[in-house]
Amino acid sequence: MKKKVITLLGAPGAGKGTQAKMLADKFGFKHVSTGDVLREAVRLGTPLGKKARELMEAGELVPDELVGGIVRDAVTAPDAPDVFILDGYPRNVAQARFLDSLADSADVYVIDLKLEEEDAVKRLAGRRYCAGCGKIYNVFFSPSSREGVCDACGGALEQRKDDAEEVVKERFRVYREQTAPVSDFYAGQPRYFSVDGNRELEDVAAEMSGLIKKLERRWRAEK
Ligand code: AMP
Repeated sequence: MKKKVITLLGAPGAGKGTQAKMLADKFGFKHVSTGDVLREAVRLGTPLGKKARELMEAGELVPDELVGGIVRDAVTAPDAPDVFILDGYPRNVAQARFLDSLADSADVYVIDLKLEEEDAVKRLAGRRYCAGCGKIYNVFFSPSSREGVCDACGGALEQRKDDAEEVVKERFRVYREQTAPVSDFYAGQPRYFSVDGNRELEDVAAEMSGLIKKLERRWRAEK
């Protein structure tokens, strides 16, 4: 089977990361988050991390060449799995075109998680992540059983630097100007699906699982 990339679009806080992790676990797909790869590079102080750090902390996008490399390497690696869930890419129309330029290597499908800015901002304010295993919580909507401690691994829960209020404002400005047009780029195409993100996590996950099962049937029929 030709490789498949399912990419999740959506505003910051729409739930891309959480849903991508759940879907990857459930279906056994590989999950690639450009944000996670960049945060790890920053943590390790690699050359990529050094170039990305200040931009990320200010809520700006990292240059297309740097993130494009992450995605291309993941998709074209000789041992690349059949299906990827991508989250955080593409963030602008140039990146969407770049992803399409990998069409020899993979077919691209898009799930757009729709959430109003006001609701997304609330989610970001409450978001915490486990420094140990990366599990994501929300102090308002899905808290850990012990405050500040991960249920899964006992690690410490932290807030992302770019979830600070001023940075969130900048991230939304960038989203409105650069990322929202990516939805228009794909909308109306048979590979584009839009999902209402303003519901309980489980309900969104159920709809997305249904979509993926539908895609899997489509892929089997193509063979
Ligand atoms: P995320 O975890 O997806 O919210 O990404 C966190 C930050 O990483 C973003 O605010 C950007 O600074 C950077 N980043 C992640 N993905 C991309 C991308 N596709 N293009 C440019 N910058 C990105």
